[in-house]
Amino acid sequence: MQTLKTTLLIIGGGPGGYVAAIRAGQLGIPTVLVEGQALGGTCLNVGCIPSKALIHVAEQFHQTHQHSQHAQLGITVQAPSLDIAQSVAWKDGIVDRLTSGVAALLKKHGVTVIHGWAHVVDGKTVDVDGQRIQCEHLLLATGSSSVELPMLPLGDAIISSTEALAPKRLPRRLTVVGAGYIGLELGIAYRKLGVEVSVVEARERILPSYDSELTQPVAESLKKLGIPLYLQHSVEGFDAATHRLQVRDANGEQLKLDTDQVLVAVGRRPRTQGFNLEALRSR
Ligand SMILES: Cc1cc2nc3c(=O)[nH]c(=O)nc-3n(C[C@H](O)[C@H](O)[C@H](O)COP(=O)(O)OP(=O)(O)OC[C@H]3O[C@@H](n4cnc5c(N)ncnc54)[C@H](O)[C@@H]3O)c2cc1C
Repeated sequence: MQTLKTTLLIIGGGPGGYVAAIRAGQLGIPTVLVEGQALGGTCLNVGCIPSKALIHVAEQFHQTHQHSQHAQLGITVQAPSLDIAQSVAWKDGIVDRLTSGVAALLKKHGVTVIHGWAHVVDGKTVDVDGQRIQCEHLLLATGSSSVELPMLPLGDAIISSTEALAPKRLPRRLTVVGAGYIGLELGIAYRKLGVEVSVVEARERILPSYDSELTQPVAESLKKLGIPLYLQHSVEGFDAATHRLQVRDANGEQLKLDTDQVLVAVGRRPRTQGFNLEALRSR
Protein backbone atom coordinates (compact mmCIF):
# COMPACT_ATOMS: atom_id res chain seq x y z
CA MET A 1 0.00 0.00 0.00
CA GLN A 2 1.35 3.45 -0.99
CA THR A 3 1.73 5.91 1.90
CA LEU A 4 1.37 9.66 1.56
CA LYS A 5 2.56 11.83 4.45
CA THR A 6 1.15 15.23 5.28
CA THR A 7 0.89 17.65 8.18
CA LEU A 8 -2.87 18.23 7.97
CA LEU A 9 -5.43 15.80 6.61
CA ILE A 10 -8.99 17.00 6.18
CA ILE A 11 -11.87 14.62 5.50
CA GLY A 12 -14.74 16.42 3.77
CA GLY A 13 -14.75 19.12 1.11
CA GLY A 14 -17.80 21.12 2.28
CA PRO A 15 -17.62 24.65 3.72
CA GLY A 16 -16.10 23.25 6.93
CA GLY A 17 -13.36 21.34 5.13
CA TYR A 18 -12.52 23.47 2.12
CA VAL A 19 -12.30 26.75 4.05
CA ALA A 20 -9.95 25.12 6.59
CA ALA A 21 -7.88 23.62 3.76
CA ILE A 22 -7.54 26.93 1.91
CA ARG A 23 -6.52 28.72 5.11
CA ALA A 24 -3.99 26.01 5.98
CA GLY A 25 -2.62 26.24 2.44
CA GLN A 26 -2.28 30.03 2.80
CA LEU A 27 -0.31 29.47 6.02
CA GLY A 28 2.04 27.10 4.19
CA ILE A 29 0.86 23.96 6.01
CA PRO A 30 1.13 20.83 3.85
CA THR A 31 -2.54 19.83 3.50
CA VAL A 32 -4.44 16.95 1.94
CA LEU A 33 -8.24 17.09 1.54
CA VAL A 34 -10.26 13.93 0.88
CA GLU A 35 -13.76 14.20 -0.60
CA GLY A 36 -16.01 11.23 -1.38
CA GLN A 37 -18.60 13.05 -3.47
CA ALA A 38 -18.21 16.57 -4.82
CA LEU A 39 -16.13 19.53 -3.65
CA GLY A 40 -18.37 22.11 -2.03
CA GLY A 41 -20.19 19.50 0.07
CA THR A 42 -23.86 19.66 0.93
CA CYS A 43 -23.97 23.44 0.91
CA LEU A 44 -22.79 24.04 -2.65
CA ASN A 45 -24.16 20.88 -4.27
CA VAL A 46 -27.45 19.95 -2.58
CA GLY A 47 -28.04 22.57 0.12
CA CYS A 48 -27.75 26.33 0.54
CA ILE A 49 -26.82 27.29 -3.02
CA PRO A 50 -29.23 25.14 -5.08
CA SER A 51 -32.07 25.85 -2.64
CA LYS A 52 -31.55 29.60 -2.94
CA ALA A 53 -31.40 29.26 -6.74
CA LEU A 54 -34.70 27.34 -6.77
CA ILE A 55 -36.25 29.87 -4.38
CA HIS A 56 -35.21 32.63 -6.81
CA VAL A 57 -36.88 30.82 -9.73
CA ALA A 58 -40.02 30.28 -7.62
CA GLU A 59 -40.19 33.92 -6.57
CA GLN A 60 -39.81 35.17 -10.18
CA PHE A 61 -42.50 32.74 -11.35
CA HIS A 62 -44.83 33.75 -8.51
CA GLN A 63 -44.38 37.48 -9.19
CA THR A 64 -44.99 37.03 -12.91
CA HIS A 65 -48.08 34.98 -12.14
CA GLN A 66 -49.34 37.76 -9.83
CA HIS A 67 -48.85 40.35 -12.57
CA SER A 68 -50.77 38.16 -15.00
CA GLN A 69 -53.74 38.10 -12.60
CA HIS A 70 -53.82 41.65 -11.19
CA ALA A 71 -52.42 44.64 -13.06
CA GLN A 72 -52.32 46.82 -9.92
CA LEU A 73 -48.91 48.25 -10.85
CA GLY A 74 -49.96 48.71 -14.43
CA ILE A 75 -47.85 45.75 -15.56
CA THR A 76 -49.77 43.30 -17.69
CA VAL A 77 -48.26 39.98 -18.71
CA GLN A 78 -49.55 36.68 -20.05
CA ALA A 79 -49.91 33.82 -17.54
CA PRO A 80 -46.37 32.35 -17.31
CA SER A 81 -45.46 28.74 -17.95
CA LEU A 82 -42.52 26.92 -16.40
CA ASP A 83 -39.86 24.75 -18.02
CA ILE A 84 -38.59 23.07 -14.85
CA ALA A 85 -35.84 21.20 -16.73
CA GLN A 86 -34.42 24.58 -17.83
CA SER A 87 -34.72 25.93 -14.25
CA VAL A 88 -32.81 22.91 -12.91
CA ALA A 89 -30.16 23.30 -15.65
CA TRP A 90 -29.73 26.98 -14.70
CA LYS A 91 -29.37 26.00 -11.01
CA ASP A 92 -26.83 23.28 -11.95
CA GLY A 93 -24.80 25.87 -13.88
CA ILE A 94 -24.52 28.02 -10.75
CA VAL A 95 -23.47 25.00 -8.68
CA ASP A 96 -20.83 24.02 -11.28
CA ARG A 97 -19.37 27.53 -11.35
CA LEU A 98 -19.08 27.65 -7.56
CA THR A 99 -17.65 24.15 -7.10
CA SER A 100 -15.10 24.79 -9.88
CA GLY A 101 -14.15 27.96 -8.00
CA VAL A 102 -13.54 25.92 -4.84
CA ALA A 103 -11.35 23.45 -6.79
CA ALA A 104 -9.36 26.38 -8.26
CA LEU A 105 -8.83 27.97 -4.83
CA LEU A 106 -7.64 24.68 -3.33
CA LYS A 107 -5.19 24.24 -6.21
CA LYS A 108 -3.97 27.84 -5.95
CA HIS A 109 -3.15 27.34 -2.27
CA GLY A 110 -1.32 24.07 -2.84
CA VAL A 111 -3.86 21.73 -1.25
CA THR A 112 -3.71 18.15 -2.53
CA VAL A 113 -7.26 16.94 -3.24
CA ILE A 114 -7.96 13.22 -3.24
CA HIS A 115 -11.33 11.96 -4.47
CA GLY A 116 -12.57 8.92 -2.59
CA TRP A 117 -14.09 7.78 0.69
CA ALA A 118 -11.80 8.03 3.69
CA HIS A 119 -11.66 5.21 6.24
CA VAL A 120 -10.10 6.24 9.51
CA VAL A 121 -7.57 3.70 10.78
CA ASP A 122 -6.52 5.77 13.79
CA GLY A 123 -6.11 9.42 14.74
CA LYS A 124 -3.15 9.81 12.38
CA THR A 125 -3.84 7.25 9.67
CA VAL A 126 -6.53 7.20 6.99
CA ASP A 127 -7.05 4.88 4.01
CA VAL A 128 -8.60 6.05 0.72
CA ASP A 129 -9.13 3.47 -2.03
CA GLY A 130 -5.98 1.49 -1.29
CA GLN A 131 -3.88 4.55 -0.50
CA ARG A 132 -2.70 5.18 3.05
CA ILE A 133 -2.31 8.74 4.27
CA GLN A 134 -0.41 9.56 7.43
CA CYS A 135 -0.85 12.93 9.07
CA GLU A 136 0.13 14.90 12.15
CA HIS A 137 -3.33 16.43 12.47
CA LEU A 138 -6.64 15.00 11.32
CA LEU A 139 -9.66 17.25 10.80
CA LEU A 140 -13.09 15.65 10.42
CA ALA A 141 -15.41 17.88 8.38
CA THR A 142 -17.76 15.17 7.18
CA GLY A 143 -20.99 17.12 7.60
CA SER A 144 -24.41 15.53 7.87
CA SER A 145 -27.00 13.56 5.92
CA SER A 146 -30.82 13.67 5.91
CA VAL A 147 -32.58 11.69 8.63
CA GLU A 148 -34.89 9.03 7.16
CA LEU A 149 -38.16 7.90 8.73
CA PRO A 150 -38.66 4.11 8.92
CA MET A 151 -42.32 4.42 7.89
CA LEU A 152 -41.42 6.63 4.89
CA PRO A 153 -38.42 4.99 3.17
CA LEU A 154 -36.98 7.21 0.42
CA GLY A 155 -37.77 6.20 -3.17
CA ASP A 156 -40.43 6.91 -5.83
CA ALA A 157 -42.91 9.38 -4.29
CA ILE A 158 -40.97 9.78 -1.06
CA ILE A 159 -38.11 12.25 -1.51
CA SER A 160 -35.49 14.12 0.50
CA SER A 161 -34.32 17.70 -0.04
CA THR A 162 -31.72 16.41 -2.52
CA GLU A 163 -34.38 15.11 -4.94
CA ALA A 164 -36.62 18.12 -4.25
CA LEU A 165 -33.82 20.36 -5.52
CA ALA A 166 -33.59 18.55 -8.87
CA PRO A 167 -37.17 17.74 -9.92
CA LYS A 168 -37.66 16.15 -13.36
CA ARG A 169 -41.27 17.36 -13.22
CA LEU A 170 -43.33 19.05 -10.54
CA PRO A 171 -45.99 17.06 -8.66
CA ARG A 172 -49.53 18.44 -8.50
CA ARG A 173 -49.59 17.97 -4.70
CA LEU A 174 -46.67 17.83 -2.27
CA THR A 175 -46.76 17.16 1.46
CA VAL A 176 -43.76 18.26 3.44
CA VAL A 177 -43.05 16.29 6.60
CA GLY A 178 -41.13 18.51 9.00
CA ALA A 179 -41.60 22.25 9.47
CA GLY A 180 -37.94 23.10 9.99
CA TYR A 181 -36.24 25.65 7.75
CA ILE A 182 -35.38 23.17 4.98
CA GLY A 183 -38.93 21.79 4.73
CA LEU A 184 -40.50 25.23 4.83
CA GLU A 185 -38.20 26.93 2.35
CA LEU A 186 -38.67 24.10 -0.15
CA GLY A 187 -42.41 23.87 0.55
CA ILE A 188 -42.85 27.61 -0.02
CA ALA A 189 -40.76 27.46 -3.21
CA TYR A 190 -42.87 24.59 -4.58
CA ARG A 191 -46.06 26.48 -3.67
CA LYS A 192 -44.79 29.53 -5.57
CA LEU A 193 -44.12 27.24 -8.53
CA GLY A 194 -47.82 26.34 -8.50
CA VAL A 195 -47.78 23.06 -6.52
CA GLU A 196 -50.49 22.42 -3.86
CA VAL A 197 -48.39 22.10 -0.71
CA SER A 198 -49.29 20.97 2.83
CA VAL A 199 -46.99 20.74 5.84
CA VAL A 200 -47.13 18.13 8.61
CA GLU A 201 -45.22 18.78 11.84
CA ALA A 202 -45.17 16.62 14.97
CA ARG A 203 -44.43 19.52 17.32
CA GLU A 204 -46.91 22.26 18.31
CA ARG A 205 -45.46 24.97 16.06
CA ILE A 206 -43.41 25.57 12.93
CA LEU A 207 -39.62 26.10 13.16
CA PRO A 208 -39.57 24.54 16.65
CA SER A 209 -35.88 25.27 17.21
CA TYR A 210 -36.27 29.03 16.65
CA ASP A 211 -37.74 31.74 18.94
CA SER A 212 -41.49 31.69 18.37
CA GLU A 213 -41.74 35.51 17.86
CA LEU A 214 -39.37 35.21 14.92
CA THR A 215 -41.42 32.48 13.28
CA GLN A 216 -44.66 34.53 13.14
CA PRO A 217 -43.96 36.17 9.74
CA VAL A 218 -43.27 32.72 8.29
CA ALA A 219 -46.57 31.39 9.67
CA GLU A 220 -48.36 34.38 8.11
CA SER A 221 -46.68 33.80 4.80
CA LEU A 222 -47.75 30.11 4.81
CA LYS A 223 -51.31 31.23 5.42
CA LYS A 224 -51.19 33.85 2.66
CA LEU A 225 -49.84 31.30 0.20
CA GLY A 226 -52.59 28.81 1.12
CA ILE A 227 -50.32 26.14 2.63
CA PRO A 228 -52.32 24.09 5.18
CA LEU A 229 -50.39 23.25 8.34
CA TYR A 230 -50.99 20.06 10.31
CA LEU A 231 -49.30 20.75 13.63
CA GLN A 232 -49.02 18.07 16.33
CA HIS A 233 -49.60 15.42 13.67
CA SER A 234 -47.28 12.45 13.30
CA VAL A 235 -46.90 10.48 10.09
CA GLU A 236 -47.67 6.77 10.03
CA GLY A 237 -47.08 5.78 6.42
CA PHE A 238 -47.82 6.40 2.75
CA ASP A 239 -50.08 4.30 0.54
CA ALA A 240 -48.57 4.50 -2.94
CA ALA A 241 -51.66 2.92 -4.57
CA THR A 242 -54.07 5.57 -3.29
CA HIS A 243 -51.50 8.41 -2.94
CA ARG A 244 -52.51 8.95 0.66
CA LEU A 245 -50.31 9.91 3.58
CA GLN A 246 -51.60 8.64 6.91
CA VAL A 247 -51.11 11.01 9.84
CA ARG A 248 -52.41 11.00 13.41
CA ASP A 249 -53.27 14.08 15.46
CA ALA A 250 -52.59 14.67 19.17
CA ASN A 251 -56.02 13.18 20.08
CA GLY A 252 -55.26 9.93 18.25
CA GLU A 253 -57.54 10.69 15.28
CA GLN A 254 -56.23 9.33 11.98
CA LEU A 255 -56.30 11.53 8.88
CA LYS A 256 -55.44 10.68 5.27
CA LEU A 257 -53.89 13.40 3.16
CA ASP A 258 -54.07 13.11 -0.63
CA THR A 259 -50.65 13.81 -2.09
CA ASP A 260 -48.48 12.87 -5.08
CA GLN A 261 -45.13 13.34 -3.38
CA VAL A 262 -43.88 13.45 0.20
CA LEU A 263 -40.81 15.47 1.08
CA VAL A 264 -39.20 14.16 4.26
CA ALA A 265 -37.35 17.04 5.95
CA VAL A 266 -37.14 15.97 9.58
CA GLY A 267 -33.56 16.92 10.27
CA ARG A 268 -29.98 15.90 9.59
CA ARG A 269 -27.55 13.70 11.47
CA PRO A 270 -23.74 13.86 11.62
CA ARG A 271 -21.89 11.65 9.15
CA THR A 272 -19.40 10.33 11.67
CA GLN A 273 -21.26 7.09 12.51
CA GLY A 274 -18.94 5.03 10.30
CA PHE A 275 -15.87 6.23 12.16
CA ASN A 276 -14.34 4.31 15.01
CA LEU A 277 -14.08 7.21 17.43
CA GLU A 278 -12.21 5.04 19.97
CA ALA A 279 -9.53 4.39 17.34
CA LEU A 280 -9.42 8.12 16.65
CA ARG A 281 -8.75 8.92 20.29
CA SER A 282 -6.09 6.22 20.49
CA ARG A 283 -3.33 8.39 19.00
C1 LIG B 1 -31.60 21.89 1.49
C2 LIG B 1 -30.58 22.55 2.38
C3 LIG B 1 -30.52 23.93 2.45
C4 LIG B 1 -29.59 24.55 3.27
N1 LIG B 1 -29.56 25.92 3.30
C5 LIG B 1 -28.66 26.54 4.08
C6 LIG B 1 -28.59 27.97 4.13
O1 LIG B 1 -29.35 28.64 3.44
N2 LIG B 1 -27.66 28.53 4.91
C7 LIG B 1 -26.78 27.78 5.66
O2 LIG B 1 -25.94 28.36 6.37
N3 LIG B 1 -26.83 26.45 5.64
C8 LIG B 1 -27.73 25.80 4.88
N4 LIG B 1 -27.76 24.43 4.84
C9 LIG B 1 -26.84 23.69 5.72
C10 LIG B 1 -25.46 23.60 5.08
O3 LIG B 1 -25.54 22.90 3.85
C11 LIG B 1 -24.52 22.87 6.03
O4 LIG B 1 -24.54 23.54 7.28
C12 LIG B 1 -23.11 22.86 5.51
O5 LIG B 1 -23.06 22.22 4.24
C13 LIG B 1 -22.20 22.14 6.50
O6 LIG B 1 -20.91 22.13 5.96
P1 LIG B 1 -19.89 20.98 6.32
O7 LIG B 1 -18.63 21.29 5.61
O8 LIG B 1 -19.84 20.80 7.79
O9 LIG B 1 -20.54 19.63 5.73
P2 LIG B 1 -20.98 19.25 4.27
O10 LIG B 1 -21.27 20.43 3.44
O11 LIG B 1 -22.04 18.21 4.41
O12 LIG B 1 -19.69 18.58 3.66
C14 LIG B 1 -19.19 17.37 4.14
C15 LIG B 1 -18.50 16.66 3.02
O13 LIG B 1 -17.79 15.55 3.56
C16 LIG B 1 -17.83 14.50 2.63
N5 LIG B 1 -17.57 13.26 3.36
C17 LIG B 1 -18.29 12.73 4.39
N6 LIG B 1 -17.72 11.60 4.82
C18 LIG B 1 -16.62 11.40 4.05
C19 LIG B 1 -15.62 10.37 4.02
N7 LIG B 1 -15.62 9.35 4.86
N8 LIG B 1 -14.66 10.46 3.06
C20 LIG B 1 -14.64 11.49 2.18
N9 LIG B 1 -15.55 12.48 2.18
C21 LIG B 1 -16.53 12.44 3.11
C22 LIG B 1 -19.23 14.56 2.04
O14 LIG B 1 -19.28 13.92 0.77
C23 LIG B 1 -19.45 16.07 1.97
O15 LIG B 1 -19.13 16.58 0.69
C24 LIG B 1 -28.67 23.77 4.03
C25 LIG B 1 -28.72 22.37 3.96
C26 LIG B 1 -29.66 21.76 3.15
C27 LIG B 1 -29.70 20.25 3.07
